[in-house]
Amino acid sequence: MKIQSIRGFNDILPEKIKRWHRIEERARTIFELYGFSEIRIPVIEFTDIFARSLGTTTDIVEKEMYTFTDRDGSSITLRPEGTAGVVRAFIEHSMYAQSPITKLYYSGMMFRHERPQKGRYRGFYQIGAELFGSKEPLADAEVIIMLWRFFEAIGIAPYLKLEISSLGDENCRPAYKQKLVEFFMPSRNQLCEDCRRRLEVNPLRILDCKKESCKQIAQDAPSMLDNLCSECREHFESVKNTLTSLGALFVSNPRIVRGLDYYTRTVFEVTTEELGAQNTVGAGGRYDHLVEELEGPPTPAVGFAVGMERIILLHEKKFPEGFQKEVDTFIAHLGSEAKKTAFLLAYELRKNGVFTEMDYENKSLKSQLKRADKLGVKYTIIIGEEELSRGKVKVRDMRKSTEDEMNLEDVKKLAIKFRI
Ligand SMILES: [Zn+2]
Ligand SMILES: [Zn+2]
Repeated sequence: MKIQSIRGFNDILPEKIKRWHRIEERARTIFELYGFSEIRIPVIEFTDIFARSLGTTTDIVEKEMYTFTDRDGSSITLRPEGTAGVVRAFIEHSMYAQSPITKLYYSGMMFRHERPQKGRYRGFYQIGAELFGSKEPLADAEVIIMLWRFFEAIGIAPYLKLEISSLGDENCRPAYKQKLVEFFMPSRNQLCEDCRRRLEVNPLRILDCKKESCKQIAQDAPSMLDNLCSECREHFESVKNTLTSLGALFVSNPRIVRGLDYYTRTVFEVTTEELGAQNTVGAGGRYDHLVEELEGPPTPAVGFAVGMERIILLHEKKFPEGFQKEVDTFIAHLGSEAKKTAFLLAYELRKNGVFTEMDYENKSLKSQLKRADKLGVKYTIIIGEEELSRGKVKVRDMRKSTEDEMNLEDVKKLAIKFRI
């Protein structure tokens, strides 16, 4: 037997990992600005947790979970998504009793037995966030805006589209479901086998079917947005108005169903046209009954998850050179005093988070500049004895090939920053 990884599972090699680190760092920075804290939960839970939260008639639970019988006979499942486990932890640790609002984010590997395709693996990474304790539209808007700020901070926002909709609630959804049943009944025999069953158990799911014949029939199906009760309509309008007031560009798309049962009211998707058929990079929504469903106290909540592999693919396509290094230096030095200063300066700059490199030998300026070039740094700081005696150094912009004199003390204060 050839030694190899399992189909659908892949390695992320060192040459690729920098991009992952940068993107993950920016997610953390932004989420923490919005008051979210990281939670780390197990990759495996009792199967029941997922079946009860995702819904037993969803594709994930029906076809895609990695479920095993543990040695003691209990059924356990590798997590297909993050929300169910976070909700389980939220309840188990009585987080609702500690603060009226709980904001959590997570990142890690999820597992779904799907057909592997470009940008879609069976073992894949997601970053997600959940806000517990508010039913207000501002909470929906905040979570959506935070996600959007993350996309802006890594530069991919211009290639993304934000779509939002509402799935209604327990007041208006049952009547809408009934309308759907009435709509689909006459064409029941043209529906795929799955959808014929969905018609009985969960007609909403038909709107999500990938089969062309079902899509065709579903085209003229009544829209949830036209069937919202007044509270749900008001909530949806308020989310949209808040997003608009923040300058967010979005489209309202009544076709968003989401593959999970737990959503109520707001749902949203972030899609791109840059990656072919695999176009959803992130999605989320409100789930006001899930905590209760899992035997916690009634707690409204809203959250999202983004697929890291697809974000990475898009980022690679748009920024093949990786993240632009903002302050990135090589220190060249001439003379023994300059060399000592260079070494101390490198120490200071690295302390500030600036990538800094220098030569330890006494090479010629030409050979040092050659190395700086090879490293692709943005600036080379040249320390010569004459300038140093005046407390100055030369800073060479490697791309523009220009040189400026700067105070050594000012150069020491250079620090890496990114716009967020
Ligand atoms: Zn179908
Ligand atoms: Zn409603």
